[in-house]
Amino acid sequence: MADGNTFHTGGCQCGAVRYRAKGELGFPHVCHCRMCQKAAGNYFMPFAGAMIENFSITRGEPAWFQSSATVRRGFCAACGTPLFYDGSGDHMTITLGSLDDPPSLKPALQTNLTHKMSWFGELDHLATEPQMDTSAEEGAAIRATSRQHPDHDTEQWPPEAWT
Ligand SMILES: [Zn+2]
Ligand SMILES: [Zn+2]
Repeated sequence: MADGNTFHTGGCQCGAVRYRAKGELGFPHVCHCRMCQKAAGNYFMPFAGAMIENFSITRGEPAWFQSSATVRRGFCAACGTPLFYDGSGDHMTITLGSLDDPPSLKPALQTNLTHKMSWFGELDHLATEPQMDTSAEEGAAIRATSRQHPDHDTEQWPPEAWT
């Protein structure tokens, strides 16, 4: 698994930006800092790093926001998905939710706990909504109109049906 033949692929929600990382992703963690909260529109940002020589953009180009003098954050200008954190020069940090297979990589560490939500640990104990009973027709209608890119590389995107 952690050999040189391992690949991770991923991209943004709309599929305009796709990337590929060879080898194992390092330092999988969730960052609770305030800048990551803002950049994600979420309570934390899940990250891991790919060595820069093993990382490539395979479709499109991300937009960049220089969030400080030493760090820029990459995202899709078309759909807004946060994708990258670039601050070191020798590796590219990737948002783990943008991977095609997020369950494949479990975070091993939390960082910047100062701004961590005090009730973060309670989230898993929230009441849950029963699984909605979607009819076959409703399910088909949702799939037919979803413009979310599938969780794998595609030859052409968007599909011809949209263009
Ligand atoms: Zn996009
Ligand atoms: Zn952070």
